[in-house]
Amino acid sequence: MEPVICLKNIVIRQGENFTLTIDDLQLLPHRIYVLTGPNGAGKSTLLRALALLMLPQQGTIRFPAAAAETPARQRQKITLVEQSPYLLQGTVSDNLAFGLKLRGIRGKEQQMRIRSALEMVGLDGFEPRKADKLSGGEVQRVALARALALQPDVLLLDEPTGNIDSKSLHAFEILLSRLPEFGVTVVLSTHDLSQPARLGGEMIRIENGRLLDRPHWASEPGDLKQTEKKLWLNPLNVQGR
Ligand code: ADP
Repeated sequence: MEPVICLKNIVIRQGENFTLTIDDLQLLPHRIYVLTGPNGAGKSTLLRALALLMLPQQGTIRFPAAAAETPARQRQKITLVEQSPYLLQGTVSDNLAFGLKLRGIRGKEQQMRIRSALEMVGLDGFEPRKADKLSGGEVQRVALARALALQPDVLLLDEPTGNIDSKSLHAFEILLSRLPEFGVTVVLSTHDLSQPARLGGEMIRIENGRLLDRPHWASEPGDLKQTEKKLWLNPLNVQGR
């Protein structure tokens, strides 16, 4: 299977004292990769590099399937959701429409993408809600829907469950575990060492700017029970189980 992203001989310096060094890392399509490691290990730096928001001082980051595209077009295939996502003032719909408009997606196609992205994250009918009246968990899910509406090949999530309360965590993890079925390759960071297994993801351990080992499966993909997965369309249904 052809990798979706290849990193080779990467060196990225941040400030005076930190260097991220990756000799070889290949991410395969339609999988979930979970970056784990202590604070300051380099998880966010790696995510920003994968989002092409930071250029390495040395080495190459390649997207084999999009090799012929311009850097701007390649960047559109990747979406990064920051740890504390910022929502624009206005409605949930305004927030999802913004990035779509920038890509020239308007009218019915825009409405359809907004509706289906909100359904995917269990926020059906949230289009007219005011962004500044949402709970922390809802903000996180709107940010995820905003990214999904762009239909990226690669979705990068920086600590997506960091601000999710424990009651909503299980539902949110089910949602994350389903994303590869929609053709998305997911790379997310977490402090929670048990999360890779729950997500059926491949763990990438990082410490002091270095990968500790080659990525390995924390468990067989699909660790969450099938019966629970069926509830993904409305993850709130599984709260309190
Ligand atoms: P993690 O996400 O694992 O907590 P980061 O990638 O955020 O780690 O940070 C890795 C290192 O890079 C830390 O030592 C941090 O202080 C440093 N760093 C991050 N951003 C910057 C910056 N803009 N300027 C200087 N140093 C930075």
